[in-house]
Amino acid sequence: MTKPQTQPIGILGGTFDPIHQGHLQIALIALQQLHLQKIHFIPCFQPPHRNQPIASPNDRLAMVKLAIGNNTAFNADDREIKRGNISYTIDTLKSLRQDYPDTPLCLIIGTDAFQELQQWHHWKELIDYAHLVVMYRQTDQPQQSNALIENKFSGLEQIDSSSLEFPLGGGEPSLRSVLCIHDSSKRGSQQRGKPKCEECIFTWAQPHVTEDISDLSHYRKGVIYFLMINPILISATKIRNKIKARSQNLKNELPGKVLDYIKTHHLYSANSK
Ligand code: ATP
Repeated sequence: MTKPQTQPIGILGGTFDPIHQGHLQIALIALQQLHLQKIHFIPCFQPPHRNQPIASPNDRLAMVKLAIGNNTAFNADDREIKRGNISYTIDTLKSLRQDYPDTPLCLIIGTDAFQELQQWHHWKELIDYAHLVVMYRQTDQPQQSNALIENKFSGLEQIDSSSLEFPLGGGEPSLRSVLCIHDSSKRGSQQRGKPKCEECIFTWAQPHVTEDISDLSHYRKGVIYFLMINPILISATKIRNKIKARSQNLKNELPGKVLDYIKTHHLYSANSK
């Protein structure tokens, strides 16, 4: 297999309804920690697993552009909006791979998204096109002992690693921790009939996890890496609720130009659609 030495490109997808300082902070952290050459912010057209965003695709894209400003390491990428329909990440990765055939790509997702990866369209194929970088928040503490998890997974089939494109890494404890949280926090919803997916994700992910950050630039795709970050307690939902409640206190949560755009276009207020 070829070993590119090109700096990877990061991919940060989302509804960005609106883009906020939490998004910009994780992008900056990823840029520095993962030694990325740039990050593509990709607002979706229609997210697969949730309702249509409140703001229009063009407004969300405009806000991403304003937030990025003239930072040349950040790129507002409109491919999902241009494509229309449901925004499946696998289609976006295929399209990026065509644009960047030789460059390592890092799809950046949160722990929560990773825990529900099995619900993504063609989820097992994602790492055929990119690496997966899971932003692991420091408050995401394991809720069960490793011994318990070890016991739980001991009966699972061994993975055939002969087809892997990179050496096995030592990131298993992080993987266990992440799925451990899922196991504990989702117990209630599983009882209500949701699929139990952590075993399946564990089995699939285990041979791809690495703790060696240089694997992200040595290989173009196929590695799963956990990046520890401090929690950034901002969400677009909270911001939209604050705007609806006419809160004036959004300066720390939104870039100034995004706040101005929201005000000028009357987005998210009680009087808007
Ligand atoms: P909403 O509240 O509407 O669900 P959001 O604030 O989570 O929105 P998204 O556009 O859905 O924003 O998120 C895009 C990506 O950014 C996701 O991978 C999400 O996990 C991540 N993200 C969003 N907010 C934060 C945050 N405060 N800290 C770390 N990651 C975040």
